Amino acid sequence: MLTKKQLAIQLSKLAVFEKPKLKLEQYPTDSEIASMVLWDALMKGDIVGKKVADLGAGTGILGIGALLLGAAHVYFVEKDSDAVATLRANLLPLRLQNYTILQMDVSEFQDPVATVFQNPPFGTKQAHADKPFMETAFRVGTVVYSFHKTATDAFVRAIAGDNGCTVAEIYTFSFPLRQTYPHQRKRMEHIEVTCYRLVKRVS
Ligand code: SAH
Repeated sequence: MLTKKQLAIQLSKLAVFEKPKLKLEQYPTDSEIASMVLWDALMKGDIVGKKVADLGAGTGILGIGALLLGAAHVYFVEKDSDAVATLRANLLPLRLQNYTILQMDVSEFQDPVATVFQNPPFGTKQAHADKPFMETAFRVGTVVYSFHKTATDAFVRAIAGDNGCTVAEIYTFSFPLRQTYPHQRKRMEHIEVTCYRLVKRVS
């Protein structure tokens, strides 16, 4: 069994987007932040032996972390073929079999899962680009860990409520956005990001 520190180290070694695409808001989750949220999910019983979906998986840090912590199966859903290529390369040395890579739009994903992890586009390039992610997550999952810009808190809570979900926990971070795009002038920018643990209400 991994320790939290070992998890963070393993995740920090994963390859990230080679040529990040601005339109798709391809920012990888920082490995320290990913391991914090994943570890808390582990402690809450949301990972071991569970079916998990990583929506907008990108290079796979969230789903790979779930696999390393004992998920029964992980679905990686990602529409960009370049990201999928890096995701495959990240998965290969782990020699695991209990995952499925689905190259498709997130809204097409159908399989029911216990837990969803997602760090969707924050909608800075396309307004509410995170909406189809939220809708899919609530359709397929029972517990949803979802990252959003803290500034959009009201929107996230409203859409969660509309979909029968309760905000069970929030984690706030200052997200390091490494300089990956020309429009980011400062070497290291930070934005306030909240990860929500959302739980479907039993009706
Ligand atoms: N989950 C990864 C990547 C986050 S960036 C991580 O935490 O590091 C958001 C990802 O969502 C990008 O890889 C982008 O290509 C993907 N994406 C954006 N819109 C999508 C959509 N409609 N369907 C599927 N994937 C999408």
